[in-house]
Amino acid sequence: MADLRDLYQEVIVDHSKSPRNFHPLAEASHHAEGFNPLCGDRLTLYLKVQNGIIENASFVGAGCAISTSSASLMTEQLKGKTIAEAETIFQDFHRFLTQESGTGVEEARLGKLAILGGVREYPSRVKCATLAWHTLHAALQGQAAPVSTEQDQ
Ligand code: ZN
Repeated sequence: MADLRDLYQEVIVDHSKSPRNFHPLAEASHHAEGFNPLCGDRLTLYLKVQNGIIENASFVGAGCAISTSSASLMTEQLKGKTIAEAETIFQDFHRFLTQESGTGVEEARLGKLAILGGVREYPSRVKCATLAWHTLHAALQGQAAPVSTEQDQ
């Protein structure tokens, strides 16, 4: 874990200290809870979806810098996306974090999310980074039970 510092780049620190869209959403049409027992990260995600478009996204919860900044970056990125686009970003992001570097998903397509690429070196941290996205998937599927990173691997 020598280069843990690399994980905490400026943007990650910024988003973890001042998470964007960090509040419940009264007009939410979808919500889901996510839990990463390996790290203790917990979050509730709220979405307002209308006509297949994610008009608003927010979250509350408590977790490590990686999970919080990932959720913060995700909620920023989701606004204005269709459900299909959101699922595509999730798949790209998941592949980006779990596969060996240089085998497919272009960083450019992920935009700011590529900042989290440093967690690739740390398998347990990948779950911190993808927790918000698994929770998004559950929310869009209308899944009632809380999602755990230990159930869907
Ligand atoms: Zn974590």
